[in-house]
Amino acid sequence: MNTERRDGAFAEPRGHGAAPIDNGPVPVRHRLRCDVMDTAAHHRQSPIDITRDEVTFGADLPGLSVRYPNRPVTARVCLEVKDGDPTPAGAEVVPEVVVHVAGSGAAVVLGGAEYRLDSLHWHTPSEHWIDGRPAPLEVHLVHRSEAGVFLVIGVLSLVGEHDETIAPAFDLIDRFDPGRLTPDEPQCFDAEVRLDRLLPKASATFRYDGSLTTAPFTEGVTWIVFTEPLAASADQIDRHMALVSTPTPRCGDRPNPPGNARPIQERGRRPIATDLPG
Ligand SMILES: [Zn+2]
Repeated sequence: MNTERRDGAFAEPRGHGAAPIDNGPVPVRHRLRCDVMDTAAHHRQSPIDITRDEVTFGADLPGLSVRYPNRPVTARVCLEVKDGDPTPAGAEVVPEVVVHVAGSGAAVVLGGAEYRLDSLHWHTPSEHWIDGRPAPLEVHLVHRSEAGVFLVIGVLSLVGEHDETIAPAFDLIDRFDPGRLTPDEPQCFDAEVRLDRLLPKASATFRYDGSLTTAPFTEGVTWIVFTEPLAASADQIDRHMALVSTPTPRCGDRPNPPGNARPIQERGRRPIATDLPG
């Protein structure tokens, strides 16, 4: 049973039984946004390719307790761009849709420590890969402890039905004007969001020690990636992809590929743990 579930989550359609979900062609690495940082001095960066054969079951992993309000919360949904971090390739000017929810009371508890949910945002395609391939979409829920330690939850989405939970934020995409976006003037709207519906019902996770995936690429980030994907419609994914691909920063002589996913980083000897037996 467990083996079936692990194989099923991100497996290729097998061509029998129910109609397979069409997740498009297998993406290739050169389609991902070029890196903006020399990682030579860094060894615990994110995102990574989670190879399920190399994931270790941890019977004694600390339980993750999600304490998100089970009602809509008012969020500030903004199109933002970071002030360009000088790099050899120039400034990074990829805009992000950021949902600010500090003050909503949403938090998670892991190993006795509380991490408050500060904001969330999306990546098209996903930043984390499962078994050598990305998913079309990934949400990152960015939490911080009182001591300033980051815990980020990632949930991948495959192409499927319209996702009502992300709609309040994604429906604003048409109202943003990326052509007029500056670091000093984010474009913001209020929206009601259901944070508690952003996570899959199944609570199994992958866990590893990594970093922020945008500048300043701070390490010491606890990463929790849910093993079970959600779904969003092709239209929702396409609209986000179009938005974050609008500016075209360049990486040396190469044109910047579409999307806002950082390339996967070397995992090295970092272990990946899971609370999913199998
Ligand atoms: Zn992110």
